[in-house]
Amino acid sequence: MNRRDLLKKGAVIGGAVVAAKVAGAGSKAFATQKKYRWRMVTSWPPGFPILQTGAERFAKRVGELTQGRLTIQVYAGGELVPPLGVFDAVSSGSVQCGHSASYYWAGKCNAAQWFTSIPFGMDAQGMNAWFYYGNGLKLWEEVYKQFNLVPRPAGNTSIQMGGWFNKKINSMADFKGLKMRIPGLGGKVLGKAGAAITLLPAGEIYTSLERGVIDATEWVGPCHDIRMGFYKVAKYYYYPGWHEPGSTLELIINKKAYESLPSDLKAAIDTAAAELNSKMLSEFEKENAKALTGLLKDKKIKLLRFPDEVLKGLKKLSYETIQDVASKDKLSRKVNDDFQAFKKKLSDWNKISEKVYYDFMI
Ligand code: CA
Repeated sequence: MNRRDLLKKGAVIGGAVVAAKVAGAGSKAFATQKKYRWRMVTSWPPGFPILQTGAERFAKRVGELTQGRLTIQVYAGGELVPPLGVFDAVSSGSVQCGHSASYYWAGKCNAAQWFTSIPFGMDAQGMNAWFYYGNGLKLWEEVYKQFNLVPRPAGNTSIQMGGWFNKKINSMADFKGLKMRIPGLGGKVLGKAGAAITLLPAGEIYTSLERGVIDATEWVGPCHDIRMGFYKVAKYYYYPGWHEPGSTLELIINKKAYESLPSDLKAAIDTAAAELNSKMLSEFEKENAKALTGLLKDKKIKLLRFPDEVLKGLKKLSYETIQDVASKDKLSRKVNDDFQAFKKKLSDWNKISEKVYYDFMI
């Protein structure tokens, strides 16, 4: 064997040894890798399109990304805990994660409301910019830390609809005495305008509208509204959804459970959440457009735009309401100040970009 052959052989043997060592280390590491079995609860009915199916897709993606090292069993609202029991279940650690919306927890945590949507707040694009590149997610983590929760944006409904009405809204005076089902800050705003606000469970809205117990209700957007059948019992479908311009859904993870994960599994969760956040918005856009066509062509609904005077009036009352709600505690003030400052900067940009372009694109 000449020197060159020796060198060649040595290199091959050396290479083989290195390869064997790597394989050995890999299989040893794989054998000792811990497997995690998690449970996830949601606020959505079983099979609820886009929201529950989105949560299930997230769980599947985490399983794929971790090659089965972290698997998540998903339970719809009511299957393990009630729809609005998600926050407590994850906070206490009885389950490891949940999918819901932060504004449901306003009673426990005032500052949580800004992380879903506020009246005349930012749209989905703005919310995502605030979360990922502004202080949005940092502030959300700070707010939820006291509840042992780690939040992640995990979906967006896109702008919602103004709602289904049996009375026409021509001026702010038309809200006086109007009986409407509208939760959250939007409800507070209309309350200030003189409306009688009721909170009804989803299953009671249709019959209440049919029997005149309420004059109006908001829900989500065309895709979910058509399934509720409101077009059969309401005369007018109003737009835009000034009260929920870009509602973000949340993934919440028990802090201890999240911190117990190795860094690659944490990354898998964060990646799958970001994917869900983006894909759910896309799905909403596509399904809402399809359902709106169905409502207009097949159901012959009457679509009405809130007059400018009404939107201006609602905007003024929304500003006052949000100032009131933000003044309740230090953390809410801090979140609102940051939200408003980010929105202001974004508005200066949006004014000369999307706002102008939309008028000519459509
Ligand atoms: Ca809504």
